[in-house]
Amino acid sequence: MSLTDDLYRDIILEHFRNPRNQGKLEQPTFISHGTNPFCGDELELTVELEGELIRKIRVQPKGCSISQASASMMTEAIQGKTVPQAEEMARRFKAAMLEGASLENTPEMEDLQALEGVKKYPVRIKCAILGWNTLLEGLSAHHKGKKEATHVEGEEGEHKPLNAEPEQPAAAQAAVSTDSPEEQVRGALRTVIDPELNLNILDLGLIYGTEIQGGNVKVTYTLTSPGCPLGPVIKGQMQSALLRLSWVKEIQTELAWIPPWDPKTMASEDIKTELGIW
Ligand code: ZN
Repeated sequence: MSLTDDLYRDIILEHFRNPRNQGKLEQPTFISHGTNPFCGDELELTVELEGELIRKIRVQPKGCSISQASASMMTEAIQGKTVPQAEEMARRFKAAMLEGASLENTPEMEDLQALEGVKKYPVRIKCAILGWNTLLEGLSAHHKGKKEATHVEGEEGEHKPLNAEPEQPAAAQAAVSTDSPEEQVRGALRTVIDPELNLNILDLGLIYGTEIQGGNVKVTYTLTSPGCPLGPVIKGQMQSALLRLSWVKEIQTELAWIPPWDPKTMASEDIKTELGIW
């Protein structure tokens, strides 16, 4: 993992733990509700304008760490700016997420650059842009004289292949290995990275069990949260990692929610230190 990835994850987790401008304004100029059905994220923005100035913005987010952190960063970036400035920032942020543009040279969007890493995980892009799209929807309703708006995440990012996988770290041991099959399977699973936390699923404690019978491998695993649609991504990565072991012929995966994942008891010591939040 590169230093940059670490740094970016820290910024995202910091916003997730200490969200800025949370809550609801009593007398907003407009309210905008946003939902991202792909992940179960929801948020409500209340915004107070003074002419073209965004005097106050509050957010009530519910959802994954990416959507909550992104909304927190957005409120911090646009509060005190004008409506056209905020619209321009939304345009830039979406261009960065959806078209690969860079947010460098935009100091007022410094923290938001941390989300550029999300681009690698198409399923999470909707989480990152939900707040901005909800804001744009609210502003557009306001321009039409309305006080309330609703945004449902839909088209954006649709053109990106959903099965695009992040680059795999070093491939699992190939052909000849003196490790036991169990160790080889663990080694392979250690190369699978949870996109949300950017840490490997084995040390996170997401693997509940492995059974090996000849060339058949059965993996029982869980996910960090039932909300986000990471299942298919992680499952796909597990399968390709295990298939790199020459003796593996068949793979069965089983997603388990019981017991619920608890990093306090399940993650490795290194990972707990790394997460710092548990
Ligand atoms: Zn999400």
